[in-house]
Amino acid sequence: MYKAKAYSAASATAPLVSTDIQRREPTERDVQIEILYCGICHSDLHTVRDEWNSVMPTIYPCVPGHEIVGRVTKVGSAVTKFKPGDLAGVGCLVDSDHTCPSCKADLEQFCGNATFTYNSPDKHLGGVTYGGYSDSIVVDEHFVLHVPANLELAGVAPLLCAGITTYSPIHRWGDIKGKKVGVVGLGGLGHMGVKFAKAFGAHVVVFTTSLGKKEDALRLGADEVIISTDAEQMKQHAGTFNFILDTVAADHDLNAYINMLGLEGNITLVGAPDKPLALSSFALLFGRRSVSGSLIGGLAETQEMLDFCGKHNITSDVEIIPIQRVNEAYERLVKSDVKYRFSIDMASLKSE
Ligand code: NAP
Ligand code: ZN
Repeated sequence: MYKAKAYSAASATAPLVSTDIQRREPTERDVQIEILYCGICHSDLHTVRDEWNSVMPTIYPCVPGHEIVGRVTKVGSAVTKFKPGDLAGVGCLVDSDHTCPSCKADLEQFCGNATFTYNSPDKHLGGVTYGGYSDSIVVDEHFVLHVPANLELAGVAPLLCAGITTYSPIHRWGDIKGKKVGVVGLGGLGHMGVKFAKAFGAHVVVFTTSLGKKEDALRLGADEVIISTDAEQMKQHAGTFNFILDTVAADHDLNAYINMLGLEGNITLVGAPDKPLALSSFALLFGRRSVSGSLIGGLAETQEMLDFCGKHNITSDVEIIPIQRVNEAYERLVKSDVKYRFSIDMASLKSE
């Protein structure tokens, strides 16, 4: 074991503070990574504040962070894909059983024995896993991704969660070229959804509650922007969408968006508000519409997404912050005041 620097929360109401944690020495299959940037996902905030208590209670101390990019510092003797000095990424998963039908189908995120990057039982050290708000991490090489060398690293980190979470359902939906695609919520996930839907050739429409984000939405690739609080604008687009990606982190009127769908349109939820959303069966029946959900992506698909981003020069629009400003960033996240992802420069942890 060795000591690593990190930021952790001691309870649902405590701020994140500087601390030391234990990491394992790399085993033969492990890759040790010096973390350079870590994105701040709204899931980090949900977890730190124990907002998902009824589904996934938080074990404290909690070190969040699952949008990790860095440089390999050491590899185990059986590691073949990485060597010291390589760029590396780690997302929401650090282990799974490799034997179940989901793992065999490259869908490790649905493995019943998956280990998430933080707040999951740690098979090596006991306790729970600690995430990327830290200067280093040790991960089984199967869960480490190659990062395209041409991309700016601070903007790559968010691809490891916000990127794959939006790429996967949009890509899976089918040929989206020329189709009318909506993205609800222009935050970390939403702005990546806009970029991917645009890259796949869709007619992209952003639904936002923030008037001030309109220009940015267009710059990010949206063809149209709807202020969702404006009933008249909503009415004009009713029944016209083929597909909608809902990234909203808080309670909202799901039925208003279902009513935006045309015949057999689908709305896929990736946002994870703490409380259940009300669902009107009438909104679904008329038009044979469907609602589904999607959870990050498997490792092969995550690599495919990163390679796609390398090829098309896609990164997240980030506001780079030192880790000392993480609590302030959380407050801004709650107010939908992020453009469009906070990325922590982990060099700032050296002074702690
Ligand atoms: P974020 O950056 O905070 O963005 C969420 C956006 O939702 C906000 O920017 C805002 O956009 C909109 N919004 C917030 N409150 C709203 C409200 N009360 N009514 C309507 N719109 C509201 O969060 P994120 O990191 O993108 O994450 C979004 C959600 O996805 C979180 O719940 C997170 O836990 C979840 N998530 C799921 C997965 C998965 O695998 N399924 C992966 C990662 C994250 P506007 O200002 O444009 O309205
Ligand atoms: Zn996330």
